[in-house]
Amino acid sequence: MTIRSAVHALPDTLMPPDPGPARMATAAAAELAAADPQLYRLLAADLRAQNGTLALVASTSVAPPSVLACAGAALSNITAEGYPGARFHAGCGVLDRIEELAVERATALFGARYANVQPHSGSAANLCVYFGLLQPGDTILGMDLDAGGHLTHGSRASVTGRYFRPVAYGLDADGLIDHAEVAALAREHRPRIIVAGASAYPRTVDFGRFREIADEVGAYLLADISHIAGLVAAGLHPSPVDHAHFTTTSTYKQLCGPRGGLILMGRDADAPAPGGRGTLSGLMQRSVFPLGQGTPNPGAIAAKARALQFAATAEFRGFAGRVVADAAAMAGGLADLGYRVLTGGTDNHMVLLDLEGTGLTGTVAEQALESCGILVNKNRVPGDTRPPMVCSGLRIGANGMALRRFTPAEVGYCTELLDTVLGAVRPLSDTEYELPEGVRRRVGAAVAELCADYPLPGYPADEAELAEAV
Ligand SMILES: *Cc1c(COP(=O)(O)O)cnc(C)c1O
Repeated sequence: MTIRSAVHALPDTLMPPDPGPARMATAAAAELAAADPQLYRLLAADLRAQNGTLALVASTSVAPPSVLACAGAALSNITAEGYPGARFHAGCGVLDRIEELAVERATALFGARYANVQPHSGSAANLCVYFGLLQPGDTILGMDLDAGGHLTHGSRASVTGRYFRPVAYGLDADGLIDHAEVAALAREHRPRIIVAGASAYPRTVDFGRFREIADEVGAYLLADISHIAGLVAAGLHPSPVDHAHFTTTSTYKQLCGPRGGLILMGRDADAPAPGGRGTLSGLMQRSVFPLGQGTPNPGAIAAKARALQFAATAEFRGFAGRVVADAAAMAGGLADLGYRVLTGGTDNHMVLLDLEGTGLTGTVAEQALESCGILVNKNRVPGDTRPPMVCSGLRIGANGMALRRFTPAEVGYCTELLDTVLGAVRPLSDTEYELPEGVRRRVGAAVAELCADYPLPGYPADEAELAEAV
């Protein structure tokens, strides 16, 4: 019996609970504190900052400590080019089992027929799809970066807009995806791939409509759900998995997982690949390795497996429900206070504000809020004339509030705090401002109290616990 098959034969019940990983983690923290106090103090400062600030950045979430433990496990030492059962290195038996578990959990959670858990990031997942299907110069039709698309959807600032020929669709006058424009551009430019999905779009994406357009012009459809993967997993946003040929996502955003990406396929997994090169899923398998990446990150694969298990729980569905309720409460509250909420509201975790009329730029608003412990990010608005490091809008996300178990009542309080700061800022230029010290102190104290009352689940809550944890 080979070691690989021996490990596979070992029933879970025979695997003793082993204090090894826990002991290693404690010893590692002590070693770090002693050997590299400078770095240790920085890590401690970061943990303290995460505990004490209200992170409303739409692209973040908070990984449960068990996910972080997997990402930092000794498993990272394993070098493992290839896939389970077909590696280019010896010693991958346990990792094979972990990768199979991650794949099983990914397919089960998303109702997919194929999953690849090796992409190092959401961007890498997208690049693997492109490199597998496109020749240099082939056309990608994706959402314009300024309209809310992602760099990897064909922006000229990204390799995806330089090696391929990007065509961009935008939004209609109401700020919604303009399907008529998508269809017209598709007919005119005959893209090889159409990308549906965004980094800054607060409404439901109609993946079925995108597939109709893709079918009409013979394009592949890539659904990028990096921002909304948690809602899709929880059934709170329609799933693209059977509409799109390929679905990609980051794992660290709404899935509360490690840094990394996933590629999923539904009903087209066994469809023939172009040029008689086997199936589409077989093509994806080769697109990730060896075409796009080398060795996978074993710790990240284990952490994905853990995050995907968590995402299948009732607790996670509760979190996803709060995400939608909290975002709606914030959008409604800000609109009531007179702010310009793009599209008039939200269907997902995201609220987009146009600051036109407040006299503030995105960067001034972002910095003033950060000085009070509220983290959001500046964002371009459709037709934005300000440079990318200034911007005219803000993007606010509800993942962080939902993780802290805020109900719409606490969200209402946050909305007031936001309004207090934005109402008190005096802009001096596009990038400089003054904020009365009293406001900063008052809001800062309110944020600190809120964070202490609603701690990040599983994270050390007070100074004593924190001192022990880092
Ligand atoms: C964040 C994001 C990505 C890229 O993910 P990374 O893991 O940061 O590389 C891709 N697509 C969309 C829509 C995103 O929002």
